[in-house]
Amino acid sequence: MADTFTKEERSQIMKKVKSSKNKSTEFKLIELFKYYGIKGWRRNFKLFGKPDFVFPKLRIVVFADGCFWHGHNCRNLKPEQNKEYWEQKIKRNIKRDQLVTEKLTTKNWTVLRFWECQIRKGKIEELVNCVRTKV
Ligand SMILES: [Zn+2]
Repeated sequence: MADTFTKEERSQIMKKVKSSKNKSTEFKLIELFKYYGIKGWRRNFKLFGKPDFVFPKLRIVVFADGCFWHGHNCRNLKPEQNKEYWEQKIKRNIKRDQLVTEKLTTKNWTVLRFWECQIRKGKIEELVNCVRTKV
């Protein structure tokens, strides 16, 4: 099926989708940190894989994974158009996620990944417990 957008137009559109989605998830996480009294996190901390949040002292990294981009099966998000293109892209993201987790784990970081849908529901107990045991 022919795409209505050029490759560049499409990548511009998807970039916008990606950044706005990511931001709302990150803001929600910050809200949850405040709610649970979780401190010591940094954003934009330079580390392999660009984690969304890093707790340098506790050596915890947090990734907020978008359900669509990282292949969560929580809802039917798969687009009908360019199915193969997205499937390949998502597969690459999943592989990349695994590599990042492995690398950081071997460097003694505790890697926690949360799905966008989990964060929306406020389900971050794993992080709360992890922070509490490490403090
Ligand atoms: Zn999900």
